[in-house]
Amino acid sequence: MSLTVLLVEDDAELRATLRDALEVEGYRVFGAASLADARALLAHGLAHEAVDVALLDLGLPDGDGESLVQQLRTGRGVPVIVLSARHGDVQKVRLLDGGADDFLVKPFSLLELLARMRVAMRRRGRILEKSATVCVAVRISDNSFRRLTRRSASGALTVTLSKNRSTGARSSASA
Ligand code: CA
Repeated sequence: MSLTVLLVEDDAELRATLRDALEVEGYRVFGAASLADARALLAHGLAHEAVDVALLDLGLPDGDGESLVQQLRTGRGVPVIVLSARHGDVQKVRLLDGGADDFLVKPFSLLELLARMRVAMRRRGRILEKSATVCVAVRISDNSFRRLTRRSASGALTVTLSKNRSTGARSSASA
């Protein structure tokens, strides 16, 4: 069962890049470009679905992402990682005190984001709830991905090779 990510980011290019990268890592990604989008997703598409981690941009077209922290954390117990271009210590401390689990200043490395997501979910017991899944992804070329997934909970090794995501063609092997 894959982990679900709510990605709130108004920069379309960054949102697409993060979505691709996270999907390669095996996450299910729900993207929102504004506070209104995110609230609509939480109220409808994700109403009955556990969100395992939220990545939240602060500068959104219809307001500050900060206003969503409370709803995500208190309302749904979702770990929140703030992604921001702002460096201010005051806001950072306020966000962390206000319930955000972590804060990453843009630009950040994908590896660091993935590591912090794991930490935030581990702290909240999100990873242990589902089978521990370790994914290794290698980007071969723009549209070709190779995905190796090891499911340690069942002791089974599942290898999924995905040639081209747009065609959905893939082959699987289990051992
Ligand atoms: Ca922004």
